[in-house]
Amino acid sequence: MHTVTTNYRLSNWRGEFVDAATEQAFRKHSEADASRSLRRALLVWAALVVLFGLLDYPVLGHGYDFQVLFGWRLATAAVLLLLYWQVRRKPSLVSDGYAVTAVEIFGSVLFFMLYFLRHDMVSWVIAVVAISLLALFMFIPNRVYLSLLASAFLSIGLMACVAARGMGAEKVIGLGFILVLPIAVGFFTALRWQLAQRQQYALLMQVISSNRDLQDEIKRREALEAELKRQATTDPLTGLFNRRQYEMLFQRERQRCNRLGQEMTLCVMDLDHFKRINDQHGHDAGDAVLRHVAQHLCCSLRHSDVVGRFGGEEFVLILPDTGLEQAVAVLNRLREELAETPVPVRGQLLPVSATFGVTAVRQDDSDLESIVRRADRALYEGKGAGRNRVMTA
Ligand code: GH3
Ligand code: MG
Ligand code: MG
Repeated sequence: MHTVTTNYRLSNWRGEFVDAATEQAFRKHSEADASRSLRRALLVWAALVVLFGLLDYPVLGHGYDFQVLFGWRLATAAVLLLLYWQVRRKPSLVSDGYAVTAVEIFGSVLFFMLYFLRHDMVSWVIAVVAISLLALFMFIPNRVYLSLLASAFLSIGLMACVAARGMGAEKVIGLGFILVLPIAVGFFTALRWQLAQRQQYALLMQVISSNRDLQDEIKRREALEAELKRQATTDPLTGLFNRRQYEMLFQRERQRCNRLGQEMTLCVMDLDHFKRINDQHGHDAGDAVLRHVAQHLCCSLRHSDVVGRFGGEEFVLILPDTGLEQAVAVLNRLREELAETPVPVRGQLLPVSATFGVTAVRQDDSDLESIVRRADRALYEGKGAGRNRVMTA
């Protein structure tokens, strides 16, 4: 079960998750996207900075002002491209926003120079700054309050430039009012966008998490079902099929063999003098021997053979696609193996042997019980004849 609950509460003013770890995870999640759009924005910005330099030439000519301005344009473009490469190399740079903000602030300086050097288009510069403020919020992925910081630097800087040129206080304040408009529009748009992105992320994470819980629950139930099935079909001591299960498997195998015209045999096996083992070594030792023998039966027989625990120390072996003669050979091999390998129990080696009664399943056999009875008779003949042998009926 995933019990870790994540706090998806949002701060409406910062446009970020209140919980630092959640915010961190979100930024990591959207890092690739953000770094891609930042790089695109940086390229466009750098291109515009250089291209608009061509418009300076007709006005400023080849003079000193043009050279200073164009030099600064190239420096700005270089810084933008530097950030472009850095972000490409290390997309995590975009996440905390400091590098982007620093570059935004550096990029603002070009506007101040334009204001002083392009006397011909002072009011144009102000319009371009207003549009740039909007673009800064909308096209450059950054944390909203860092964008606000950069836009404050640009607008206050421009107001300072206007004041420095000797404009009156009312002009400076008027400019302030004009610049507040794009900042407000940009800020609230970016804020809503940031919040919407995070809400979407929270939803996605919740869906993923409940999906995972569901998967866990399904796995748990499947395991439980398998365990219940195992308990319902097997004997707890030996793990062999219990009566209900081997009866069911017998019917299935009988039908299959009938259909394919194959022979089928059934054997009842009883351990010899098992009471002695219990009496001399204790019931636990007897249990250990039963487990060992069960294990041996399962390993030695074919995968398609059915091995069940019939009663105390008696076992039923169902051998589909096996004739009587073939069954006797298989069971004799099994009998020899058992008799030749004593069972290690608590540091002692206990010899075991078993007697087998085997019979072919006939078309006219009405039910399993009558077949088992026939095999049982053979088994008891074997006991009477000295045990540790395979008898047919
Ligand atoms: P025989 O060769 O004639 O079969 O002799 P036997 O001693 O094996 O006689 P019988 O089959 O009648 O005795 C079965 C004994 O197996 C009786 C009981 O004490 C023991 N037994 C039955 N079920 C269990 C069991 O689950 N665990 C243990 N340890 N012993 C069991
Ligand atoms: Mg016995
Ligand atoms: Mg018995």
